[in-house]
Amino acid sequence: MLPVVVVHGGAGHIPKDRAELSCAGVREAARGGYAVFKTGGSAMDAVVEAVTIMENNPAYNAGRGSVLNVKGGVEMDALVMDGRTLASGAVSAVRRVANPIQLARMVMEKTSHLCLTAEGASQFARAMGVPEVEEESLITDYSRMRWKKNLHPDANPVESQMGKMGTVGAVAVDAEGNVACATSTGGMINKMEGRVGDTPCVGCGGYADNQTGAVSPTGHGEAIMKVTLSRLILFHMEQGKSPEEASDMALTYMKERVSGLGGVVVVDPKGTWAARFSSLQMSWAAAQQGQLHYGLYHGEDFTEPI
Ligand code: ASP
Repeated sequence: MLPVVVVHGGAGHIPKDRAELSCAGVREAARGGYAVFKTGGSAMDAVVEAVTIMENNPAYNAGRGSVLNVKGGVEMDALVMDGRTLASGAVSAVRRVANPIQLARMVMEKTSHLCLTAEGASQFARAMGVPEVEEESLITDYSRMRWKKNLHPDANPVESQMGKMGTVGAVAVDAEGNVACATSTGGMINKMEGRVGDTPCVGCGGYADNQTGAVSPTGHGEAIMKVTLSRLILFHMEQGKSPEEASDMALTYMKERVSGLGGVVVVDPKGTWAARFSSLQMSWAAAQQGQLHYGLYHGEDFTEPI
């Protein structure tokens, strides 16, 4: 069953005209992450590669294409975690970097800390020689259009979540049975400046432990944080539930307890995987044993050769 890579392109409700872009992007990312194994890459290498591909794709709310905060700026959150040692690294509210996920990995590998935020994260990026990009280069016409629309005093809060989809994430198991996760986002549309969501918080925006498995979630960050969604799923797996059962239990709990919707990709160390969501849609793709699985709506599992 090993190795395997599973990715998501965000939970939510995506307009028809953008659905195709989102589905194509997750397939490309799962293939890209899986290809890393051919050159001896680890689960960590695979998840960072898959998420980097989606950060570079303007169809997603991560890296280029991130949603804007209320002031029209881009502040991004990202997290990686390595199931071998429970090492993790994160950045929050970081500006002007193209690939926050790579910076999160540097925090894990080059500092004694778990998370760097805002200006401190930018300073660290400069110290590491990560090129600073123009904020404009991360902003798309689509994200600016939605920002303007949601600034309107009559904006409907339900409608404003339409098209809110595109946080990206990946989980993987390599041939040695090591698991890893990576998640990256621009956050919630028109969020307050300085708002930090679930994504960079260990146990909320991801978790990876070789003893149990790995999770990358998406959805309403404040709800995910209240239930520590990623760790909750692994807790259910520790109690003997499959990745699919554990995901459904935790997503149902989040919906009933705090009215939160979302989705997750999950693996166990043997390579059993699940892509589950309580939102209307979540684009996802999984690469395993020469096969690519993918879907967008509940019940979908299309396959094609890798
Ligand atoms: N969880 C992300 C956040 O709250 C958003 C999302 O997944 O759509 O920042």
